[in-house]
Amino acid sequence: MGKIRLLDNITIQKIAAGEVIERPLSIVKELIENSLDANSENITIEIKNGGKSYIRVTDDGDGIEDEDLNLAFKRHSTSKLSTIEDLYRIRSLGFRGEALASISHVSKVEVMTKTSNAIGGIHAIVEEGEIKSKEVIGCPKGTTLIVKDLFYNLPVRKEFLKSDLVESNQISDIVYKVALGNLNTSFKFIRDDKVVLKTSKNNDMKTHIYSILGKEFSSNLTQINFEEYGIHLHGYISNNNLYRSNRNHQYIYINGRYINNINISNTIENHYKSLIPLNRFPCFILFIELDPSTIDVNIHPTKQEIKFANQSEIFSVIDKAVKDTLYPSLSVPKVGFKE
Ligand code: ADP
Ligand code: MG
Repeated sequence: MGKIRLLDNITIQKIAAGEVIERPLSIVKELIENSLDANSENITIEIKNGGKSYIRVTDDGDGIEDEDLNLAFKRHSTSKLSTIEDLYRIRSLGFRGEALASISHVSKVEVMTKTSNAIGGIHAIVEEGEIKSKEVIGCPKGTTLIVKDLFYNLPVRKEFLKSDLVESNQISDIVYKVALGNLNTSFKFIRDDKVVLKTSKNNDMKTHIYSILGKEFSSNLTQINFEEYGIHLHGYISNNNLYRSNRNHQYIYINGRYINNINISNTIENHYKSLIPLNRFPCFILFIELDPSTIDVNIHPTKQEIKFANQSEIFSVIDKAVKDTLYPSLSVPKVGFKE
């Protein structure tokens, strides 16, 4: 008798969900991205116990239509793309159609949503990708997702979660990153019943940075703005007075998407070697806008890594931009011979 068996659907879904939802911060990130994709202007994020027991994300965006609600929680269902070609034109943060399905397979989900032309809103309870109950409610336009008891059905995963404090800090980190990268949306972040971040929309970038990262940070930045090969790079880089012991204050956004990229970090750090102490890292908030067909965002389910078609151009543009901006900005002590 053969040994190979087809896995049952619940097991398949749980395995797939584990790839997208590693920990509470994955849920928060996916939900905020959905809110941004839905053209929201105001997003509130609330967490309790490091997001393990409770996560709520409320937005005032487009909402989900009644007839779409079922599909929204099915794997590989998305309103953001229909062919593989679309992937290389994509401007939205989501495209895999996996987040809501995954979340509903590893936690208890409740959704409230209303589109602008619907008369009433909908309140639904979702379990393992299925709408269990649905009722009409009065609610404003937009969507609220409440996610409770993460990994209640995956005890081993649950055990691997860190302390509430560590998980909360990781969530804060991602909320700050997304808030920083989105000038036109206001964010409110409530952590264990305390409002810890509140941003206003439509400020200029410098004021926005000040409101999120504080005075010391924002007063030691130099503006960067550079364009070559159709790659536009703009934002702020630190001067020689601002550095940190890790890379947590290196913010990189490609076409609005927050990403991690050690090669970009290294390219920038090279210019600081003689300016800041050893084992310290410069800080920057860097927006890179480029033709979406020259990048691949579909490298990893969490979409935080990216592949560039023209690597060398990107790094050369970053290198030049930082060199041209950083050196003139430094306050060089005046030394020299007397006339
Ligand atoms: P993706 O974002 O990759 O499309 P998701 O599973 O995150 O996949 O979401 C599925 C679909 O549900 C989205 O394509 C979108 O149409 C809808 N949706 C999810 N969250 C929201 C929201 N906050 N506001 C409006 N629509 C949403
Ligand atoms: Mg999504």
